[in-house]
Amino acid sequence: MQSKILSSTQTRLTLEDLLQRNKEWVTKINKENPSFFENLSKGQKPKFFFLGCVDSRKSLNFITQTDLGQLLIQRNIANQANPEDKSIQASIEFALFLEVNHIVVCGHTQCGGVALAHTCATQPPTDSLKEVKEWVRPIVKEFQDHSNEFDNLKTDDEKLTHLSKLNCLAQLKNICQTPAMQKAFESRKYPELHAWIFVMETGLIESLELPVTQWKAEGILPQSYPN
Ligand SMILES: [Zn+2]
Repeated sequence: MQSKILSSTQTRLTLEDLLQRNKEWVTKINKENPSFFENLSKGQKPKFFFLGCVDSRKSLNFITQTDLGQLLIQRNIANQANPEDKSIQASIEFALFLEVNHIVVCGHTQCGGVALAHTCATQPPTDSLKEVKEWVRPIVKEFQDHSNEFDNLKTDDEKLTHLSKLNCLAQLKNICQTPAMQKAFESRKYPELHAWIFVMETGLIESLELPVTQWKAEGILPQSYPN
């Protein structure tokens, strides 16, 4: 499958190819499991909600080898959970309504949104990509708030990966502060929280340690949250 994707990128993949692949996929599934689509259409009960980046190299279903119906996913540039973004608030509310067991913010290395934020924080301003720069402004602030942590990091890759990790944790913190999560915390019925980084250079996912004690002290997490 992977080689198929890579070779398709190298050749010229057309829309007709995509439609043809869809038909081939349906034929294959129907052969293996004739009731697959009938069952799929009956409803969803995903256990996981993911907030991920739009990057085309990171399909969450693909990298976790999960099927349709198993992951509830929201994606935007650099996996932002901006408190003013109604879309994320509604998605979290919906995820809790569906009673997901886990909420995961999944960033990645080589993230263009994170790199742009780093450029904004360290280079003179330019006129390009104004909307995207506005969108990633919280990551610029994250860099500025933690600027001392970057002093010992030598390469740009190390700096950007560290910024991606800080960004993931900051967005998970934002999710905790959405009205729906606050309500869930009060009811003591809430999902586990996770921050992941997909390391594009290896394909492996790194799970980040959450500062649970600190977040409890700040009132971000309830005292009942497991340490
Ligand atoms: Zn990205």
